[in-house]
Order: sequence, then structure tokens, then C-alpha cells
Amino acid sequence: MFTRVSCASPAKLFCTANIMIDQLNTMETTATATPVKKQGMYDIVMEQFAHAAEVMKLDPGVRKILSKTNTEIVVHFPVKLDNGSIEVFTGYRVQHNNALGPYKGGLRYHATVDLDSARALAIWMTWKTALAGLPYGGAKGGIEIDPKKYSSGELERITRRFTYALGDNIGPDLDIPAPDVNTNAQIMAWIADTYSSTKSPSTRFANLHVVTGKPLGAGGLEGRDRATGFGVVATLKTWAERSNRSLKGMRYIVQGFGNVGYWTAHFLEREGAILVGVQDAGATYHEPAGISPEALNDHSAANGRNLSGFTGAATIDPQRFFAIDCEIVVPAALGNQITAANAGTITAQVVAEGANGPTDTEGEAILRANGVDIIPDILCNSGGVIGSYYEWLQNKRSEVWKIEEVLEQIHDKIAVAFNSVVSTAKEFDTDWRTSAYIVALRRLEKTYKERGIFP
Ligand code: GLU
Repeated sequence: MFTRVSCASPAKLFCTANIMIDQLNTMETTATATPVKKQGMYDIVMEQFAHAAEVMKLDPGVRKILSKTNTEIVVHFPVKLDNGSIEVFTGYRVQHNNALGPYKGGLRYHATVDLDSARALAIWMTWKTALAGLPYGGAKGGIEIDPKKYSSGELERITRRFTYALGDNIGPDLDIPAPDVNTNAQIMAWIADTYSSTKSPSTRFANLHVVTGKPLGAGGLEGRDRATGFGVVATLKTWAERSNRSLKGMRYIVQGFGNVGYWTAHFLEREGAILVGVQDAGATYHEPAGISPEALNDHSAANGRNLSGFTGAATIDPQRFFAIDCEIVVPAALGNQITAANAGTITAQVVAEGANGPTDTEGEAILRANGVDIIPDILCNSGGVIGSYYEWLQNKRSEVWKIEEVLEQIHDKIAVAFNSVVSTAKEFDTDWRTSAYIVALRRLEKTYKERGIFP
């Protein structure tokens, strides 16, 4: 259960020791981190955390701290739609931990956004930024909405009003959102503009880095758009090189063809790998001779980012997607996709987790028993937040970076993280997900030990 606080007056309200909100909207805040659902992403992340904490014998005090989220914000805010009616939306921002730096993580616009998923995704961000060696903590949020149902003008008003509702709970040195599922550079530009417009004009450009993933003209970073997919392929290259192989000729399937799915396919194509299957909410395709990622992307872009109606491949039963004969599986959509129901059908050699939390605990056990490698999400898709870090630095320093420099930095950081994951797995005789957690948790544990706890 969580404590609900609602108030209508525009007064400042201290809701819990760590929640302070400029109260301009009806609002709910939470005082505990009890999961709201029995089964969900939160359960998965906490099981992974508990296992890693046991294996590495994490300090019990640090374990207690990291078991809870620091701050959980729920806002309800009204927006006038194009037809003149008013709709009230629900938005979330969960800030898990900021021991290593400002909270960092995306905002997603999706019907599955709720407190349970925002918590889980915020916690994954803490591990991801710690593993990548970034000076950030972890947060996540979004709006419970199907953005396809709204016009561009409505989405702009929804985004601006959500930003206003979050108020000073985000900020360039406090909590820095970024794109995630169904959000993009345009949405980040509206957030940056709204946030800056509520501050003194003299500080406008000091606030550019309140969000990352912005369009180039609004302070964005060249290469941030492709950073996650580029990073996924960097991890796959490292995976193949470990056994003296290359990705050339390897067949792969991609679930989800948004930013991560498309750019992963784009860079895998460059490596000579062959896309033999793809799935999104609209359709599932299989083509052993290969599908052109660019043709698919052109079709998707012209079709409201939906793959239905593509004629370059045969449609198959969506339930058979993960069973497609291939070497590489890239889940790049939502969480909880590889489960006991389908993990046993996967014959690929590796699952590269472009999405956050795509494999549940039972699915993972089956993959492991069948000898399928897993490149865990907090390593595999970390290229995005690493790219965000360089955008944030670029804004802070009023610099403009070249794409080649950015991609090189992402590649280097991912290679370092992957090496630590492999050596830590050997040290503890454990799997890559657990060792990725251990690398991240060791960093957090060290920080807490060195710094102590206030007061
Ligand atoms: N949403 C991305 C993720 O899950 C990027 C987060 C960021 O750049 O802050 O890692």
C-alpha cells in the first residue's frame, strides 16, 4: 500500500522526508516501496538484486538502502484536447538512488507505465549507470498513455504540462530524464523548453541539460539517436570476438523496431549479419533470405512506426517468433518477453537484451540450462545512457562534439564494462547478469563506505 496525499492548493508540501513538490496539481506520493503487483518487473529486478547481493556478500546496510527507492512521484494533470474536452493524465517519476550522481533515466509513454514498472526501471538505471562508470544514479518515469491516440499538438500539451507538474523534482544537477519507449527527441525538446521557460531568462542556457536526447538544434548530441543500438552491436562484437568469431553471416531476429531495434539492425547490417525475423506490436515477419533494415525502417516510418503491411517478408504466427532459426536474438521492445512460455524454443547462441528487463527469472533459468549466452540489459543497452552523459557534458561545457568522437567513447566505455563483467563472472564463478550487478554494486558499496551516511 502507499500513502496518498492529495491537495488542491498551490502551496509547497513536504510529503515525506525526501519528497518536496511545488503543489500545482493533484498529486500522489508514496512513502514505501512495496510492490503494487504480485508479478511484475519489480519482482524480477529485486530477485536479480537479492541473488547478486548474496553471491558478493553485499554489506547489509548498503543492501537495505538499495532495496528501497529514494523518491516516488505520481502526478495527475489536466490537459485540454483538440476537441475541447479535458482529460486528466497520470505521470510518474521514481528516483531510486543518487549515491553516484544526479538521478538519470528515461521517460516512457505507454499503457504499461505504472509505479511497479517505474520502480523496476529506475532500479535498473542505478545498476546501469554504475556499471558504465558514469557519475549518475538511477530514475525512470513516464505517462500511462497510448501516444498513438493523440495528435502532435495534444502530445506537446501533455508533455509540457507533465514537465510543469514535475516542477523542481527534475533538474540538470538533480534528475535528468531522457527518451525511452515511445518518447523521442521532439518530446525532450518540449521538456527542455518548458523547464527553461519556468526559470529566469538569464539561466535559460544553464538549464539545457535538464534532459538528454534532444534534437541537435536544441542542444542535442550528434549520435545520441543511434547510441543504444550502436552499443548493443558493440556488446555483440565483443561477445563474438571472445570466441574468435565475427558477426558476418550470423542471422539475427529483433523484437521491437523503434529506436533501439532499428539502429541495432542498422549497425548489425554493417557488420554483415542477416536480419531473418522481426516483430512489433503490429506484425511478425520471418524471411530466411534476409530483410533489409532500411526498407523496413522506411516502411515503419511511413506507417506510423508500425510494421504491419510490409511486403518484403512473410508473416508468421507471433507465438513462433523466438523459435526462428538464428544465432542472435535481440529483444528491443518491452519487459517480460522471454518467459517460461517461449524460452525453451530459442535455439540461438545469444540473447542481447536491447530492452530493459526482457527476460524474466524463469525464462533466464531455461536459457541458461540450454547454454544460451545472455548479454544483460544493464550492459547491453547502456550505450544510450553513455551517449546521454556526453550530451550532458557537451551542454555543461558549451561544446559541440563530433559523432565519431561520441561513438568511440561509447565503444570504449562498453568494452571496459564488458571486460569487468567477464572477469568478475570468473572471480565469483557466476553468470554475466550476476557479475554485471556485482560490478555495479561494488561501486555503490565503496561509495557508501567512503562517504558514510548523513547525519
Ligand atoms: N531510456 C534509456 C535507458 O533505459 C536511456 C536513459 C538515459 O539516457 O538517461 O537506458
